[in-house]
Amino acid sequence: MPDYDPNNIFAKILRGELPSYKVYEDDKALAFLDIMPRSPGHTLVLPKAAARNILDASPDDLAHVFKVAKMVAQGAMKAFEADGITVQQFNEGAGGQVVFHLHVHIIPRKAGSPMKPPASEKEKPDVLAENAKKLAAAIAAG
Ligand code: AMP
Repeated sequence: MPDYDPNNIFAKILRGELPSYKVYEDDKALAFLDIMPRSPGHTLVLPKAAARNILDASPDDLAHVFKVAKMVAQGAMKAFEADGITVQQFNEGAGGQVVFHLHVHIIPRKAGSPMKPPASEKEKPDVLAENAKKLAAAIAAG
């Protein structure tokens, strides 16, 4: 497996060099909206520590990312009146990974509503801003 590349796009977001629609942050993890959402509220949860994916992540960082993933999922159920949540996580190119900093997808689902195909459409900035605000508030409310 290749080494971690510190110039990947999520590393730049983590360093504050690129913007994101943040919904949650603590000392070990960051969660922000996917800009090409497969459903409204589609969120990515990342460890702050450098890791390409679950294959090189520390077990503690991985456990923390999934703690945050659960918080985001619970917030998304409320914020988007979801009926369920799809969790996706890809490892290496052959596993479907495109950005090589570990991330977990939290995708709110409505009954009977299919997900959009991956990377099919960039969402409008005002919609992303509004969804981030709603989801951040729901997560903070517990
Ligand atoms: P994957 O590595 O297959 O899990 O896919 C990477 C995901 O990152 C895709 O769902 C993209 O829509 C998403 N993505 C790419 N660039 C950004 C960005 N700047 N901000 C938020 N999400 C992004």
